Amino acid sequence: MWWNNVETKPGTGYPTLYEDQEEYHGGWEVRDGELKLRLNTRSGELFNLGFNPRLPSLDDYYEPWTYKYDDLFNAPLQQIQPIATPVSLVTGKEMEIEAGPNWDDDLGGSPIYAANDPNLNGVPDDERRQLFEMERIVYFYLPRICNHCANPSCVAACPAGAIYKRGEDGIVLVSQEKCMGWRMCVSGCPYKKVYFNWSTGKAEKCILCYPRLETGQAPACMHSCVGRIRYLGMVLYDADRIEEVAKRPDHELVDAQRDMILDPFDPQVIREAKENGIDDKVIESAQKSPVYQYVKVWKIALPLHPEFRTLPMLFYVPPLLPVTGSMNDEIYDSSRDFFSSLENARLPIRYMASLFTAGDEEKIKAVYRKMMALRIYKRAQTVGDIPDHEAAEAVEKGLTTPEELDAIYRLTSLAGFDERFVIPPFAREAAIELVHLTQTPADRSGSGMGFIHAPERGL
Ligand code: SF4
Repeated sequence: MWWNNVETKPGTGYPTLYEDQEEYHGGWEVRDGELKLRLNTRSGELFNLGFNPRLPSLDDYYEPWTYKYDDLFNAPLQQIQPIATPVSLVTGKEMEIEAGPNWDDDLGGSPIYAANDPNLNGVPDDERRQLFEMERIVYFYLPRICNHCANPSCVAACPAGAIYKRGEDGIVLVSQEKCMGWRMCVSGCPYKKVYFNWSTGKAEKCILCYPRLETGQAPACMHSCVGRIRYLGMVLYDADRIEEVAKRPDHELVDAQRDMILDPFDPQVIREAKENGIDDKVIESAQKSPVYQYVKVWKIALPLHPEFRTLPMLFYVPPLLPVTGSMNDEIYDSSRDFFSSLENARLPIRYMASLFTAGDEEKIKAVYRKMMALRIYKRAQTVGDIPDHEAAEAVEKGLTTPEELDAIYRLTSLAGFDERFVIPPFAREAAIELVHLTQTPADRSGSGMGFIHAPERGL
């Protein structure tokens, strides 16, 4: 099980083809105006407890193996090199290795693997073929952990009530005592971020390093990220709007989720948050949250596959490289004409839209225009090979301002540890009290950890 993995995109990910909900039925859908689990209803699950057909198989995760190292050490003197034959860690038998973690890393084996990426559906065959031609080839990395969603389908799918979202910080956890091993959470999660431990017979997942958070430390993956691409902070949101937001048509989902996040400086929000038992320190930390800036203020961080309707609380600043430079007459042109390259990008913009905006190309183009404006604006300042009037034009096209671009640049490139990870001082006693308070009133506001991946920081 890989709670925290990095995938090459285009690619089929881990477990392979997890994004194909026709196959896995993960996440939510709107049926007859109601928000329903794609997997099943709770009562339907009860009838199917002994049989869950929507699970990835061992081959989808890969069969773990080791090698017969003894054959190397104990081989008799001979003319040919001894070989360490691979053996399955499941059956103990010799095996032919056909897949493994990151098998298609850096497009290894493409177009056999990457061409099957579900996000390429709808890309014409010709263009799909061109994607893997040498002069066009481009890929990027997608780091994936549990999104600690605001509307987690894993929680709703669990018939035992073993998986839950903590009231004080929104972290989604599996109770190892209550878990009965039915694995509905594995099927229900469209991101396939719950894993089944065959040794313990229990489900397991990313815990967002809550023991570290409770002592004021950033989760280990975020702390140790050498690229410094991970940020973490609190956001306040209107929990009463979750269902309504998750039911919106695909093209409204991104904006509706942004709207659900509340302005932590608004006196009315502060008053209501306090009335609902949210601690002053939590409100203070929501005001300093880098996540709030990227997602709500600058609008350049997006959820992965919003159409799964789980309202993921992990947001991505989409990578710029795959859309800079374009194909002209079948030749890759890396000129600085960033804005026009959006129409004919190396990696089709519809691919990025399929990942981050439920297919809405205009929405992701707006993000890219701002990011391109930032690149041109800063290049004009630091390299000096772009005239001021071109930089000013770029700022205008990006629908932004020099002040906003300076702020994005600073937080993305220069921010220190304390600005990247803004963790309120959780005391367990206060947190437990808060859970009681936030669970009782019908009208309540919620708070939760949000985090972002800014895969391309080199502005
Ligand atoms: Fe649950 Fe995490 Fe999957 Fe969201 S990403 S549905 S919180 S396991």
